Amino acid sequence: MHTHSSRSDGTDQPRELVAAARAAGIDVLGITDHDTTSGWNEARTALDEISPNEPPLTLVCGMEFTTTYAGISVHLLGYLFDAEHPGIAGHIERLAQARARRAQQIVEALSADYPIAWEGVVEHAPDAQTVGRPHIADALVSLGIVPNRSAAFATLLNHNGPYYVPTPSPSTIEAISWIIDAGGKAVLAHPKAASRGNSLPDEAIVDLADAGLFGVELWHRDNPEPERENLSKLIGRLGLRTFGASDYHGMGKPNRLGENTTPESVYRELIDGTYMEVFPR
Ligand code: AMP
Ligand code: ZN
Ligand code: FE
Ligand code: FE
Repeated sequence: MHTHSSRSDGTDQPRELVAAARAAGIDVLGITDHDTTSGWNEARTALDEISPNEPPLTLVCGMEFTTTYAGISVHLLGYLFDAEHPGIAGHIERLAQARARRAQQIVEALSADYPIAWEGVVEHAPDAQTVGRPHIADALVSLGIVPNRSAAFATLLNHNGPYYVPTPSPSTIEAISWIIDAGGKAVLAHPKAASRGNSLPDEAIVDLADAGLFGVELWHRDNPEPERENLSKLIGRLGLRTFGASDYHGMGKPNRLGENTTPESVYRELIDGTYMEVFPR
């Protein structure tokens, strides 16, 4: 229910993501690039090419919205909404600009101390509609400054480090209202991901539930194990649905497709009554 392609910061093109999901034995794949829907069509086309005697795969189109709640960076998954809704279309447009500007600022700061240039970063994002730290990480790797993406995030690109610049983003509550208004459903991604500096307190989750949140990712490798029992209880108490996902990024992250999954009953409820249908129907 939560994966990235090369249209944002994954390394698989949408059709390669579809092939990887099939190879992993997945039966329902959610494509949720950061702040772009541009991978949907290619993924659909790849699904069309699956022959009837092969195991079927169902695609759920979504997007991971970069948002902010009380100064904390919050990732919000939106599913099966009308991408032409003005709030959402405006968000996509603004975030592409905001991300590009902020990535350039990070590279500018890094270039004072390391031989890195913007052109080198762009080379690592040939299909990306939204540029991010992962692409800067890839440039740092190819320059031999760090060994891999994860090392770059642990050091030079860390949110606590001197080169970090946040992405200007809308409030989580506003994004939830766009998603609902556009006929979709909103799911909170990895709420306890402390390693990224975006662990959300329980009161915030209560507030987001009031705003119309549909579900929360519980089974995600970035939610620390010791916090899951409490989080699970909170999700139940608020009447929200419990999701699990890999947040696969291809070679960009160690996360493997299918390492966490979502119960079929939650999936059925998710796709019920939405503006967009799953593909194929
Ligand atoms: P940004 O949105 O530009 O601040 O970059 C953060 C994003 O990088 C997160 O959404 C992560 O999903 C992604 N990311 C990709 N690869 C890695 C990695 N190896 N370690 C940490 N984050 C990563
Ligand atoms: Zn990402
Ligand atoms: Fe995320
Ligand atoms: Fe993600």
